[in-house]
Amino acid sequence: MSKQYEKETICVQSGWQPKNGEPRVLPIYQSTTFKYETSEQMGRLFDLEEAGYFYTRLQNPTNEYVAAKICELEGGVAAMLTSSGQAANYYAVFNICEAGDHVVLSSTVYGGTFNLITCTMKKMGIECTVVDPDDDEETLGRAFRENTKCVLAETIANPALVVLDIEKFARLAHSHQVPLIVDNTFATPINCNPFAWGADIVTHSTTKYMDGHAMSVGGCIVDSGNFDWAAYPEKFPGLCTPDESYHGITYTEKFGRAAYITKATSQLMRDLGSIQAPQNAFLLNVGLETLPLRMERHCYNAQRTAEYLEAHEKVAWVNYPGLQNNKYHELAQKYMPNGTCGVIAFGLKGGREAAARMMDKLKLAAIVTHVADARTCVLHPASHTHRQMNDEQLVEAGVAPDMIRLSVGIENVKDIIADLEQALETAE
Ligand code: PLP
Repeated sequence: MSKQYEKETICVQSGWQPKNGEPRVLPIYQSTTFKYETSEQMGRLFDLEEAGYFYTRLQNPTNEYVAAKICELEGGVAAMLTSSGQAANYYAVFNICEAGDHVVLSSTVYGGTFNLITCTMKKMGIECTVVDPDDDEETLGRAFRENTKCVLAETIANPALVVLDIEKFARLAHSHQVPLIVDNTFATPINCNPFAWGADIVTHSTTKYMDGHAMSVGGCIVDSGNFDWAAYPEKFPGLCTPDESYHGITYTEKFGRAAYITKATSQLMRDLGSIQAPQNAFLLNVGLETLPLRMERHCYNAQRTAEYLEAHEKVAWVNYPGLQNNKYHELAQKYMPNGTCGVIAFGLKGGREAAARMMDKLKLAAIVTHVADARTCVLHPASHTHRQMNDEQLVEAGVAPDMIRLSVGIENVKDIIADLEQALETAE
């Protein structure tokens, strides 16, 4: 679909383009495999000499159409779906890092990502330096090494709600000849396009706002096509030298700006297999159709709710980038002028115990391990998503022990506030 359309139109119309007599709605290609007339033809697909489908672990049409829609929303050149947001971040990094390499990681990334990079990928021989995203460029620059291969951070950190200075991070990454990978899950492409500010790769947990209805776990990687891998062949041998596991193909030579995603699909997905189920991609596509409408309502409701909480006598602090006095308000205005996300972090004067009591009293908002859902929900990060972190890591991640993460849904905001009101009143 042509680039001339606005995001609202892309969300509804892009991706699947039916030809005469074909289904209007994106079909679910519920097939592991695809038929060919000759063995020679299928051989050419295996050699990447021709584009086409042969096995769903590598590519599936339903997934491809949905990935194409997200790619267009982000303004990228190529994209792929993964089975989860975890798989997306894993592949995004592992596609350009191997044992002996090094990653610069923002301290405020989602707990699962933090664990993936600092623990699991460490066991694979990939080192990392954790940095405070608010540090100045000189301090941040000291984290880079000869063997650094990428920088990973989140547009709006989950759950610290730290807004990333994307331009600062892009400058830093590029001055060290490495790409900036931005997890854009919370902002979504509706509120922010990191590529416009210099990011090179974007990842998503599509499980969150994109699906939006808590129906399917999924992820996505989008490549801007802007990072010039071929300019640093010694840094990125996986992309710039022949791949023995693919008949000596050199991805940058053969696929140009699509090299990164082609490698991730034909090598990582082939070998590690974290494909998104076509059924889930179908559900994701339905979610994407209403993403702009929902984001607008999420942001409106969250702003009203944050203002309510800020004025409440039992509330000790509120963190929401939409609030005028928020530390990240200015950055949010710059990168996300139409709104940030529907997630608010706050603490009660009664501390951690009061937080648990208050959460137990909520009737509308459910306690669930989820965020960015149409339904309002809450979670206590220190006891739930971030419980594997020690106190020092919690502080680095911007997770106060008393922090309540409130994911404001798209219900009528009066009902959301009334629910908080009764819970705050009855919980002592
Ligand atoms: N990135 C962010 C910002 C997240 O919030 C999450 C999950 O909460 C993930 C990645 C991991 O995504 P998933 O749960 O789909 O694996």
